[in-house]
Amino acid sequence: MIVKYTLDTYQPHRHLLKVEMEVHPDKQETFLCIPNWSPGSYKIRDYSKSIHQVQFTQSKPGWNIEQTDLDTWKVSSKGETFKISYLVYGFEHTVRTNYFTSDFILVHPPATFLYPKDRLDLEPEVSWKNLTPFRFCYTGLKKKEGSKQTWKAKNFDEFFDSPILLTNEKQITFSAEGCEFDLVILGDIETKDKKKISKDLATIVETQIKLMGGTENKYYLFVLDMSDNLYGGLEHLNCSINQFDPNGWPNPDNYRTLLELLSHEYFHHWNVKRIRPIALGPFDYQKPNLTKELWIAEGITSFFDAYFLLLCGSYTPQQYLNKLWKDIQELEESLGESWMSLEDSSFTAWTKYYNRPFDPNFSNTGISYYTKGAILSLSIHLYILKETKGRKSLVDIMIALNKQYHQEKKRGFTKAEFFQTAKKVTGLDLKLEFDTYITEPKRIPVENYLHLIGVERTSSKPKIESGFRVKEERGRMIVSKILLSKSVKETDINLGDEWIALDDKRILPGNFKELLSQYQPGKKADLLLSRRGKILKRKIKFDSSPSGNELWIDEKAKDSVKELREVFLHLGKESETSKPSAKKTRSK
Ligand SMILES: [Zn+2]
Repeated sequence: MIVKYTLDTYQPHRHLLKVEMEVHPDKQETFLCIPNWSPGSYKIRDYSKSIHQVQFTQSKPGWNIEQTDLDTWKVSSKGETFKISYLVYGFEHTVRTNYFTSDFILVHPPATFLYPKDRLDLEPEVSWKNLTPFRFCYTGLKKKEGSKQTWKAKNFDEFFDSPILLTNEKQITFSAEGCEFDLVILGDIETKDKKKISKDLATIVETQIKLMGGTENKYYLFVLDMSDNLYGGLEHLNCSINQFDPNGWPNPDNYRTLLELLSHEYFHHWNVKRIRPIALGPFDYQKPNLTKELWIAEGITSFFDAYFLLLCGSYTPQQYLNKLWKDIQELEESLGESWMSLEDSSFTAWTKYYNRPFDPNFSNTGISYYTKGAILSLSIHLYILKETKGRKSLVDIMIALNKQYHQEKKRGFTKAEFFQTAKKVTGLDLKLEFDTYITEPKRIPVENYLHLIGVERTSSKPKIESGFRVKEERGRMIVSKILLSKSVKETDINLGDEWIALDDKRILPGNFKELLSQYQPGKKADLLLSRRGKILKRKIKFDSSPSGNELWIDEKAKDSVKELREVFLHLGKESETSKPSAKKTRSK
């Protein structure tokens, strides 16, 4: 069976792409499906909603096309080769949807290509009929031998994992450790800023590759789409699509967030694309692929994205601690940590975590496997460093998993196998030490692990905390979030209530922060609210929350602690001043 696609830019200003699909079938009837989701983005997307006018380009008597399910079409061609065409509408500016405009065209393959049911093993080909008005085409797919404008994948997993970008923007190239990189930056960004990004990115990928002991990729494509109100990334085997809002950039904090995003997506080309939980590949593209191990896939990646910035020098140690503090605070502010375990957060990602923008109560009932998974990974990393006297780290486990499961067994691993490999590499029973924070809704005592490298926590001066958040709607202040971890949980206040007054003062969009600042934590006040047209009076007791970063470096720690801290801060780099008594053997 052979499958070939031809793409036509068709009407980019109307966000339409035309796809022609040629199929040499091996049966009388061929069932064609469109995926319902994209690996790396764990939510059913119903991509069939944007597929229109599926028809033969040339029909014969007795041939027929019928849509038999929301995501399936039955093509009857009496076993003969057939060609169909269809239109794809793409105007959703995210990393996991199509976006076709006159500025550029980003083809997200799972949202674009019908494929023969149960035949993900086929080697699909794709050609462009017409690139106009674009000059360049970027993709991680390999060109078909002897062809200028045809690309071929070794199976549909690779095909769906290879976005295609048409643009007039020329790439910036750099290389690191034997891999060629293309960086395509979309958006109105000055040349000097583009140069800075590519220079910093080259340092990040080089640091990652060295520490991970090499990369299998000979080519990697970064697409960086800079436009208003964008944030997100999606990883692929030899590419990543990254979106970032350039407003306020290059403010150093925003800039580091951008580097973290790029660092995160690049580390995924090991962790999740190669080193992966068993449920995450090969995929069933029609239904949710459930796993309890997203704390490995996303949590460990989230730890490493910032940690690599620390190792590269993009973060100073204190800046790194400030970032870590924000993550700790996010969990402490939420009641979700006592409701949902890391495994539950992962397993239900499809319906809960990915729907959190539409669930203002999520912070009270759920946690992020990114944030908590990163804190767990940091704790594991520090514990291993301490117990092995700096000889081993979480990096060694990742290298071993890559070798053992991706390269040798060519499959994913179970949670039990993850811990077995960890034990083999470090000699430590990490399951015994950490499993309770994975399977139960229980706080990780991260301070205890930070203490191992002389990083301490002290209480900052408390600031007043109302326990609820408001947003402005047509000049009115509407309750948009309630923190059930705070004493406000005792008060009958609902999402959607209008907050009218605090004691006898009228609440207005411009003054509520200042009015609140006049109160002290522990004090009581009257709230005047409006709910469904009725005026209500409620009493509230104000809470407190930390006013600033509470993590600091103890310069008076014992020498052995300081030595371990130096290993943590400079992992993979031998340095005369920081060499610990134990010999380091990583980074080969
Ligand atoms: Zn990720």
